Amino acid sequence: MIISTGTASGKSLAYLTPAVTSCLDGGTVLYLTPTKALAADQLRALRELRITQLRAACFDGDTPFEERTWVRQHANYVLTNPDMLHRGILPRHAQWSSFLRRLRMVVVDECHGYRGVFGSHVAQILRRLRRISSRYGSQPVFVLASATASEPGAFAKRLTGLEMEEVTVDSSPRGSTTFALWEPPLTELRGERGAPVRRTATAEAADLLADLVLADVRTLAFVRSRRGAETVSLSARAKLSDVAFSLSTRYAPRHPRPHTAPATDGRPHPSGTTPHQPADTPLQAEGNPRPAQGEARRPAPETRHPESEPPTSRTGRPESRSNRPENQTGQPEPAATRPEGGGPGIGDERSRTAGTPRGPQRLDNPLLPDGSQAPPETWAEAGEPHTAAVSSVVTSSASSPPSTNGWADLPNKVAAYRAGYLAEDRRLLEKALRSGSLLGLATTNALELGVDVSGLDAVLIAGWPGTRASLWQQAGRAGREGQDALAVLIARDDPLDTYLVHHPEALFGRPVEAIVLDPDNPYVLGPHLCAAAAEIPLTEADLDTFGATTTDVLDDLVSQGLLRRRPAGWFWTRRERATDLADIRGGGGAPIQVVESATGRLLGSVDEPSAHTTVHTGAVYLHQGETFLVETLDLEAGVALVSDAEPDYTTFARDVTEISVLESLRSQPLGRGQLHFGEVEVTRQVVSYLKRRLHSGEMLGDEPLDLPPRTLRTRAVWWTLPAPELTALADEGFDLGGAAHAAEHASIGLLPLFATCDRWDIGGVSTELHADTGLLTVFVYDGHEGGAGFAERGYARASDWLTATREAIASCECERGCPSCIQSPKCGNGNEPLDKQGAIRLLDTLLGS
Ligand SMILES: [Zn+2]
Ligand SMILES: [Zn+2]
Repeated sequence: MIISTGTASGKSLAYLTPAVTSCLDGGTVLYLTPTKALAADQLRALRELRITQLRAACFDGDTPFEERTWVRQHANYVLTNPDMLHRGILPRHAQWSSFLRRLRMVVVDECHGYRGVFGSHVAQILRRLRRISSRYGSQPVFVLASATASEPGAFAKRLTGLEMEEVTVDSSPRGSTTFALWEPPLTELRGERGAPVRRTATAEAADLLADLVLADVRTLAFVRSRRGAETVSLSARAKLSDVAFSLSTRYAPRHPRPHTAPATDGRPHPSGTTPHQPADTPLQAEGNPRPAQGEARRPAPETRHPESEPPTSRTGRPESRSNRPENQTGQPEPAATRPEGGGPGIGDERSRTAGTPRGPQRLDNPLLPDGSQAPPETWAEAGEPHTAAVSSVVTSSASSPPSTNGWADLPNKVAAYRAGYLAEDRRLLEKALRSGSLLGLATTNALELGVDVSGLDAVLIAGWPGTRASLWQQAGRAGREGQDALAVLIARDDPLDTYLVHHPEALFGRPVEAIVLDPDNPYVLGPHLCAAAAEIPLTEADLDTFGATTTDVLDDLVSQGLLRRRPAGWFWTRRERATDLADIRGGGGAPIQVVESATGRLLGSVDEPSAHTTVHTGAVYLHQGETFLVETLDLEAGVALVSDAEPDYTTFARDVTEISVLESLRSQPLGRGQLHFGEVEVTRQVVSYLKRRLHSGEMLGDEPLDLPPRTLRTRAVWWTLPAPELTALADEGFDLGGAAHAAEHASIGLLPLFATCDRWDIGGVSTELHADTGLLTVFVYDGHEGGAGFAERGYARASDWLTATREAIASCECERGCPSCIQSPKCGNGNEPLDKQGAIRLLDTLLGS
């Protein structure tokens, strides 16, 4: 069974009840999650049930060896992850025999994370688990829990190989959420080929965050990177500091200051605006209409109280000024309301980060609320916002002495949060948000793994988070105790974001994206057949379990000498561990190790194909929201050396690609053209990388790279148009090559709406005349060896996908194309040639409209 409903709808309760019952009846339960941190959270929740017969334990890479035997022999509820199941549990099934014999239920939590190549590996691991369990005489029930997705039953069947019931009706009580779709305006800045640049999503998020804090709205802003989150927090604080400054000059009742005072003290004001000007802050709070031009605006709380009193929290009680923050009932918080322990997944970071950012950080060119750029040194005057450490924020707002007015505290009501905070810092932060001494928090989605934040009024999401599932998960943070809430999606400079803010029906209508995986991919299946044979030799009876392509793949494995065929079945005869053949989180090939050069610390690994685009020399590399700069990529040594850095730009690798058709597996007419799905060979070479300024999106240059070409055998979807259909367009002067190229870029940007991938998982090639088809052809291919199911999904939804692509291009108000519609940051041809109007006409011709 799969339960696919929204955040906080009670999914855990739905699987916990039967799972715990199974344990009480003498059975065992295996619980799988994609991350160790989530398993640790679940374990805590289980222990809080205080049921003595329930012996729950985590079994993952962090479990001490001396505990492992206990877990295998005595635990009846084991929490683990697919990696551990693959490497640690299945290969040693004999040691788990008593657990496996009694296995009644397998819970697969957060299963929407199992998509693409990773999902395909997990699908095969689950098939191995089913096979092994049945050898021990058990047939466990699989219960899957997922965020909302389209066709969850079909996905669950692909993941487990079993027929699935789906539960999709969500009847949990909740208030209504007002959802705003926000498109930042075009600026005067010019990007590649003179294209207009939009104001960045982070700059807009900072403005909105400040506005909401002024209106006393508890707000969480989700930003992609830690650097971005800190930028949002700093900009919002600077803006609040401006507001506080202009308010104090106007309204300080006991120590009125002449208007001219701040202007004559000889220093520039932090924002670069003159202090008399009210900050450009639209305060739309109830009972606080926008004041007339020239009149200073005041924060909402202030309007409810005499000016001589400090501002109050939303409960109407004067804000806490004691050394201990209080909660809303006025009682001191208990020292610890929940057991400590951030879980093993977070512990790795502790020693290094220890709760505070490393050293002061400064924005070199912050884009200020009014769009002007201030010299860096003026930031020192905006309070102490450089290090927005949680603890300093909490103590400064809770223990500073009452000022003549509370305005000076305004900037301290905003903070940034990132992964790696200590448990006590997280508790402080939760407390500060609950009490209202902190009103605004900017964060990466690291928050998902650490802080228990509930009771927010608003959520800002800077940039499409990639999937509807993530969008609803993030938006679901707002709305306390069934109250109404606000969620704002702020568009980035990207075709998909543009499309979404112009087409709310794509978000709020029926679910449009499905979780895509392709367990039959021979590059995935092969290693798992080896692993299965090493566990218990494979027999004819097992072939059904592993899918239709099993026989062919087994023949291949035998001819490669990996398996040996005997009358009794297929055997693994090698010395090495079969499980080493499958790199379940990567895309095959030896992974590149990402190492911090100063400390030798291993940050993680990147599979070899992605290394060219993500950790090339000079790349800005994001790891858990932290920013690093790649010093060198050494492909032969398999190492990328990185250093901690705060560059004010992002990088995009650009590649040139050639594609040849190996075989068309399926085809069908599409409008006046033809649509195909099949096997292709792609030769791709990363040739340079583009630098774009972080805050403004401005182009900073294109740096050449010297990397070898890579050949990829994968699957693609492609469409062609016969020449006679194109004569009219050519006669009207459209550039057919530029039109096809523009359509290709935009369609790559839009495919993630129909298949849960991101645009970096897929690539494209377009040409006015392709050698293999003899026609104008546009290809979109899976960027993973053997394919990952994305192109296949594009084939299945081609008409909707290409219609949406056409709409995305047409609804962008730029004249000749921009990053929001047809320009691609990873284009190896420097976005040349592109023909925006031509692309619209070409897609109209194709779709027959
Ligand atoms: Zn545009
Ligand atoms: Zn291109």
